[in-house]
Amino acid sequence: MNVSSSLCSAFELSIVSANAPADECAICGQRTAESVSVKSLIKSATGNIPDTFRGRHACLPCATAFGESRLLTGSLLILHGEGLRPMVSKESALKEGRPCWRDLIFGMVLETSTIAVITSNTKRRLWTQAVVSTVGKTWRPLFVDGDTDRLLTVSIMRLRECLDLIEQVYALGFSKQVIAVSLWTGLAPKTLLVIGMERITQFESVLSAWRGTDEFILALFVAQKEATS
Ligand SMILES: [Zn+2]
Repeated sequence: MNVSSSLCSAFELSIVSANAPADECAICGQRTAESVSVKSLIKSATGNIPDTFRGRHACLPCATAFGESRLLTGSLLILHGEGLRPMVSKESALKEGRPCWRDLIFGMVLETSTIAVITSNTKRRLWTQAVVSTVGKTWRPLFVDGDTDRLLTVSIMRLRECLDLIEQVYALGFSKQVIAVSLWTGLAPKTLLVIGMERITQFESVLSAWRGTDEFILALFVAQKEATS
């Protein structure tokens, strides 16, 4: 199964009809017996068209997924064949009846096959850059936020370790911006007094070893303050 056919089956999309001959798919590159012309796709959809197509015809699953310009934009996760639209904020996720990333990260079973798009961008069609990847030592979620726009390579165990650390620090009142750079940034005398120099020094020394890793980038993005699970 490739990305688009997994999406179609997980989100139970009805596959569009062909209107063009056999070709290589302009999105996923797979050889397809019948296709949909890219021209007709672009007409029916708006959004980031350039860079998506390398050719004139798309396979039916890619054409179908491409047409879902609302459902298949923003964060996505295919897990156990089910299509999920996770959120970062645990509170909002609870309200919407959707899962949140940090809970999923702690809950996902090793060796499970996934497709993951983790982003703050709710408008862009990002699945075309995503890959099928197994939860384990080299899990590969697509991550798009701020300056980062690429597939990460994370060890799920290390990711959990890093997330646990960041959430401990976050719960103490440090902002994500500060955790990203240094706990000493703009440190208020009151915080220093309450938490103590020794504890801050310890946390900062462990955090500094994580900064710059893909695990850190992702953990910081999904971390929640009230991490009760
Ligand atoms: Zn395709």
